[in-house]
Amino acid sequence: MIMYGCICTIYFLYTVRSSNFAPEMYCGESVCQSKHICPFFPRLFARGFEITTYIYVWDNLRLLELPWDSAWAWWLAFLVVDFSYYWVHRFAHELNFLWAAHQVHHSSEYYNLSTALRQSLTQQFSSWVFYLPMALAVPPSVFAVHIQFNLLYQFWIHTELIRDLGPLEWVLNTPSHHRVHHGRNEYCIDKNYGGALIIWDRLFGTFAPEGNKVVYGLVHKINTFEIFHIQFHYYKYLWRRFNRYKKIFNKLGVLWKGPSWKPGKPRLGDHAEVPEVTGEELPFNPSWPLALKVYVCIHGLMLLGVYQDLFESRLMLSQLTVLMMTGYILLSLTSIGFIIDQRPTAPMLEFLRCVLMMMLHRYGYMTAPAPLFVPIEAFVSISLLYWGLQTFSQLISVKKKTT
Ligand SMILES: [Zn+2]
Ligand SMILES: [Zn+2]
Repeated sequence: MIMYGCICTIYFLYTVRSSNFAPEMYCGESVCQSKHICPFFPRLFARGFEITTYIYVWDNLRLLELPWDSAWAWWLAFLVVDFSYYWVHRFAHELNFLWAAHQVHHSSEYYNLSTALRQSLTQQFSSWVFYLPMALAVPPSVFAVHIQFNLLYQFWIHTELIRDLGPLEWVLNTPSHHRVHHGRNEYCIDKNYGGALIIWDRLFGTFAPEGNKVVYGLVHKINTFEIFHIQFHYYKYLWRRFNRYKKIFNKLGVLWKGPSWKPGKPRLGDHAEVPEVTGEELPFNPSWPLALKVYVCIHGLMLLGVYQDLFESRLMLSQLTVLMMTGYILLSLTSIGFIIDQRPTAPMLEFLRCVLMMMLHRYGYMTAPAPLFVPIEAFVSISLLYWGLQTFSQLISVKKKTT
């Protein structure tokens, strides 16, 4: 996990440094450039939906124009974005249909920099509403910088390495405060929603200091690394609960009240009913051979290369190519999740992925530095052979059992 955290950090810094984000694109009348932000990419690197809706309101409904190059306007924007984030985040925890998206970020049972990168695919489709009032006065350029800054700030606080920041703990959202937010101990539930500042929690009564050892993750563990399950399992659960109740008020309660709510309970449910935490709990960590771990790390790095290529060249590619490569990345992440989970279908899925990878490599959709071309092809060929044999032996054993 430490290695994975390091890789993510390096990649994150590299991507931010090399991205073509230019605040002046969103100043005044030249805001139409926002179409270049592709909504398919994670919101850490692009905020397509939020910024597009913001620009629409700014273009059509703004009441006044705060100067984009004034210091006080920038400080004001910093405060208002952070204040809005507090409410985005609080509603994401207190309304069950919004929690269905946000729970993705809380699904990690580890707490490190890679936890910050667990982002929901669907959350940005609701959070934009909370920022729209700003569009009546604050230029999109200022908003675009501060919404990104607010998210980037929250990256470094996902760590257990920093215990206490002294007097800064009063004002800033710190690793200690955010550890509480990620906890499933009773005292941690629905606490510390702040983004860059913790003052909003202190003001609105949702602050809790770090106490007993924090146990991270969802109250009800999901025990998987499969990305689609992590992203969408809660919607399925919500649908089941919605159908379980006969009365319309209870059905609506399932959607509009807190995740722990039940009929006859307070709006946010009874936190005393959440499973007790002793501090001895271990994260879901299936045992798998070292060779497979190395395999997953190498394929993970190759996938980062594919993602980086796609991110850099997406404006020159056709929509179909972008979709195909996005599909390949999602398939790869799913397959890696299957391998880590040790699912019986993992060999077959990985075999199919290796076939696809070989084709993409052969037809030039995956670029690699010249000295690495042959080693990559050889590694992919060996992977293909290995998973082909695994699949074959699995099919044989299934056939033997059935006869
Ligand atoms: Zn949260
Ligand atoms: Zn977090």
